[in-house]
Amino acid sequence: MKKTIYVKFLIAYALFAVFGFLVVATIVQNMMFEHCRRNRAESLYREATEIANTYAADLYNSETSLQSVQKELTALSNYMQAIIRIINPSGRLVVDSSVVLDVNQETVIEGFDPTVTAGTYYTTGTFFDTFEEEMLTVFAPITANYKVNAYVVIHSPMTALQREAEELLNIAYIMLIILFLLSLIILIFFTELVYVPIRRITTATEQYAAGNMDYPLVVESEDEMGYLAASLSYMAMQIAGAEEDQKKFIANVSHDFRSPLTSINGYLTAMLDGTIPPEMHEKYLHIVQNETERLTKLTNGLLSLNNLSSRGMILEKTDFDINRTIRETAASFEGTCREKGLKIDLVLTEHIMLVHADMAKIQQVLYNLLDNAIKFSHKGGVVKIETTERGAKVFVSVKDNGIGIPKEDQKYIYDRFYKSDASRGKDRKGTGLGLAIVREIVKAHDENINLISTEGEGSEFIFSVPKAEVMEETGD
Ligand code: ADP
Repeated sequence: MKKTIYVKFLIAYALFAVFGFLVVATIVQNMMFEHCRRNRAESLYREATEIANTYAADLYNSETSLQSVQKELTALSNYMQAIIRIINPSGRLVVDSSVVLDVNQETVIEGFDPTVTAGTYYTTGTFFDTFEEEMLTVFAPITANYKVNAYVVIHSPMTALQREAEELLNIAYIMLIILFLLSLIILIFFTELVYVPIRRITTATEQYAAGNMDYPLVVESEDEMGYLAASLSYMAMQIAGAEEDQKKFIANVSHDFRSPLTSINGYLTAMLDGTIPPEMHEKYLHIVQNETERLTKLTNGLLSLNNLSSRGMILEKTDFDINRTIRETAASFEGTCREKGLKIDLVLTEHIMLVHADMAKIQQVLYNLLDNAIKFSHKGGVVKIETTERGAKVFVSVKDNGIGIPKEDQKYIYDRFYKSDASRGKDRKGTGLGLAIVREIVKAHDENINLISTEGEGSEFIFSVPKAEVMEETGD
């Protein structure tokens, strides 16, 4: 399985070689043979015309003797490795470079037909059965006074032509082999640039699949392979991180569920077996009630966090007055504030400040921030909520003068279940989910939340919300 891509590439390579040779052996061979034949025929035709205009014409003008023409043509035919004949239109041989003709005995070619070339100037074959082997034959007429006296006919054996074509073909084969060897360079490139990185990536993915997320995957090329490898190892890192987070998350959930359950169980058992006398029951039932409240809060928090972060959050954005939402949320804390002797100070912009966001979710953000601000404030403290308009955004600040958050804790407070040590004693009901929910909501709106806090002096959370479009047109 692992070798297939390489094997496939090699098969493609072998196919390339086989088809290359097949093409050379068939098409190219034909083309070369055809080329040689035409070349030879052309040069023979030129010779024949030359002879027709010189020796043969002289012969018919009686300017030279048959013998001397015979001698000339024999010498020429040896040089040309061909047979030169002069033939009458009737088919009678006048001169033949290969034999000295008997003057007393006519040699006539049976069925001689000068139109045998059929439109071209050459023909192949045994030439009216005067040869045993195949010959390439060209014709050139000897004319005088617009009359054809005879034909100069040159025959050249086809075997010589074939030999010439084969030599050319050998050159083609050698070229093909050289090309094939040169194209091995592509194979080397393929191996180095594609195959080796793919093998590494495959091995790494097998390791990742087997759970070995630390397996190092190094592909140093700066191309798609390098990019793929880098993305894969980044993904592995993320998965490893997510697994770690998951474990931590489950440990935290279990811990946070177990402690209230243990205390509920403890108090109830003690009441049932009489360790806690009936007159004390009310006090302990209140504790039990508090613990169940905490469990409910924890379950709700987990549920909403799960809904928020799975598959991205679905926001039902509308235009609403954020000042009014702030007032309403603050009002719901009136009772708690009275108990703690706290004051909520609202410093809001114009009467109506329309924003474009998911109202219920923004209300939850306000609720969680205000809940924390009140929880971590000292008796008699002041919680200030302020809205400021800047550009296309409204900034909402929730500020308290409570216990503050230590510098080293500030980067963790948005983590699920995170509770600073300082807050544990003060807030037993806290779940550590509130700010995680706040951040998810703000993030889903593509907005930001910031914290300014000094331990012992107080904290200020500031988040942004986009203004409604109508506001942008009429405002500023
Ligand atoms: P919790 O349910 O514990 O309030 P949060 O996620 O809302 O969970 O807060 C996480 C932790 O951040 C708190 O336990 C507390 O330590 C710290 N924190 C949040 N808000 C404030 C604040 N206004 N003042 C001081 N500490 C705060």
